[in-house]
Amino acid sequence: MDIICPHCRITLDVPGEYAGESVDCPSCRKSFRVPSAPKRTAIRLTPKPIPPRQRASDRLDKCPDCGHAVSRSASRCPGCGRGQTNRASCLGLVLGVLVLTIFCLSLYFGGCSGL
Ligand SMILES: [Zn+2]
Ligand SMILES: [Zn+2]
Repeated sequence: MDIICPHCRITLDVPGEYAGESVDCPSCRKSFRVPSAPKRTAIRLTPKPIPPRQRASDRLDKCPDCGHAVSRSASRCPGCGRGQTNRASCLGLVLGVLVLTIFCLSLYFGGCSGL
């Protein structure tokens, strides 16, 4: 936890086990008492709502229509219902299949004519 030294005002990362004990500030070398951890003297036991964090695999794109943040895994915009199409990957896939088909055909016909 972050504790501010009362002598030199530097922020120190003090382990929670030092709560309620005196520690020596590494900056000004003066000792001060670490306030006890709020967890131990907690009166309210209501858990904090964890803010939803986007995973790296679940990136957001902006909807071109309404500007709403849309997950790439989502097929539709939750704001305006606009269907999402990933054109770049779609085009790449089509192009890849086409090239592969042409390659196979050329191999096939090339082999036939060679015989
Ligand atoms: Zn200090
Ligand atoms: Zn939208």
